[in-house]
Amino acid sequence: MTTRFVIVGGGPAGNTAATSAARFGAVVTMIERDVVGGAAHLWDCIPSKTMIATGGAMSFLRRSTGMGLEQASAEVDTDALTARIEGIKSHLQHGTTNLLNSQGVRLVRGRARFVSPHEVDVDGVDGSERVEFDIALIATGSRPRIPEWCQPDGDRILTTRDCYPPKVFPDSVTVIGSGVTGVEFVHMFSSFGAQVTLVVSRQQVLPGKDPEVAAVLEEDFLRRGVQLLKGARATAIERDPEADGVVVRCDDGRVVHSTHAVLAIGSVPNSDDLGLDAAGVAVDEGGHIPIDHNCVTSVEHIYAAGDVSGKLPLSSVAAMQGRKVAERLMGLHSRVHRHLDYDKAASAIFTEPEIADVGLAEAEAFASGRKIRVTKVPFSATPKALINNDPRGFVKIVSDPATGVVLGGSIVGRHAAELISVIALAVTANLKVTDIVESLLVHPALSEALAEAAE
Ligand SMILES: Cc1cc2nc3c(=O)[nH]c(=O)nc-3n(C[C@H](O)[C@H](O)[C@H](O)COP(=O)(O)OP(=O)(O)OC[C@H]3O[C@@H](n4cnc5c(N)ncnc54)[C@H](O)[C@@H]3O)c2cc1C
Repeated sequence: MTTRFVIVGGGPAGNTAATSAARFGAVVTMIERDVVGGAAHLWDCIPSKTMIATGGAMSFLRRSTGMGLEQASAEVDTDALTARIEGIKSHLQHGTTNLLNSQGVRLVRGRARFVSPHEVDVDGVDGSERVEFDIALIATGSRPRIPEWCQPDGDRILTTRDCYPPKVFPDSVTVIGSGVTGVEFVHMFSSFGAQVTLVVSRQQVLPGKDPEVAAVLEEDFLRRGVQLLKGARATAIERDPEADGVVVRCDDGRVVHSTHAVLAIGSVPNSDDLGLDAAGVAVDEGGHIPIDHNCVTSVEHIYAAGDVSGKLPLSSVAAMQGRKVAERLMGLHSRVHRHLDYDKAASAIFTEPEIADVGLAEAEAFASGRKIRVTKVPFSATPKALINNDPRGFVKIVSDPATGVVLGGSIVGRHAAELISVIALAVTANLKVTDIVESLLVHPALSEALAEAAE
């Protein structure tokens, strides 16, 4: 009998699982309450990176005088930028929907709720229905965390999702939260010319990242005039009608005034109101759905993937989890299936300079007492970086001193998000530093720094 596979949520986890499982022969129904592509396309990865790309073009122009050009500058056209964001989103949504249709996936628009371990009810735009399943995947994603001390109003006190389409560009903005999302928003708003203050609860932006990497970013922020409020926790954000702006109050008594404030303090999983009790699926205290290494929940035939599973909150990881679920449920695990190793996931931060890393970090190895070899090459020694008029940053490779196997690496600099792929491949395939050194790379190219760091 053909497996009836129901997927709740059409983000990267859901739609990758759907297309893979349909290709392998399952009968797939995907239920999505908003749009195919999920929050990743609607609010998160795509709009934020599109705005950052435009901001990046503006700051590139500002810096291009060092390239033999006359003074160059640009004004942002908010309507054109909005149209561009919507255009990219709709292009991607159509592409994904067409792919799902062509694979025979049944798409149901509506809100799903489990009513038993083998049934979901859909409150759909075209009416209600009950869908029975043999296997289900919960891929409902997450939403911005809103603390009890602050009430976003979508006008001046914003979550990351209120920032697009960009109605106005703030004159001044206070960003609360200095993790990946927070620093990307600092970079974005300051590229568009806003005066930005970042509330950093610790003593370093990007807590948990390599301090050397964080230092390069802090240096860039300070150069742009970003004010870093270190060691401060926001405790209240209020409207300030007199100044037509907001006031952010911190636990150490410091107060920041700005026209807008953006909350970037993490996310909460979309696991409430899903009827998980009726299905018997357990959630942890934070609302995430615990899964094993096969993405199986507490119920053998119900899987969870993506942000709701509480693993790495990345689109790329969500999509790979979805693919692994499809492979496993179609019985391919014995032949081609390899478990997902979250420690080998590459990730990037789209600031300027870009930051990317993968695998074992130097500080992590140091803390665990593991012997490693660390080699580092600055881009200032790379011809292409000088040609690009952007010699900021470096490539760092972490390897095993006994075998030469590449264990990890980090890159700070232009196109770091692309360049990290080489180290990610080496980490996944257990390649050695000599494999990178002996690759005949292009000259002049930024990738030459990788070969040098691998020497
Ligand atoms: C500002 C920002 C920028 C980001 N940038 C990046 C980036 O550059 N790269 C990267 O890898 N990651 C990025 N991320 C993280 C990334 O967006 C998430 O990890 C990714 O979206 C998770 O995918 P998902 O499939 O789990 O869920 P989502 O993309 O959240 O999709 C879940 C879907 O489930 C639907 N749904 C929920 N409940 C129901 C229900 N009951 N019935 C029917 N449908 C339901 C929702 O409508 C949604 O469409 C960013 C996150 C943020 C906040």
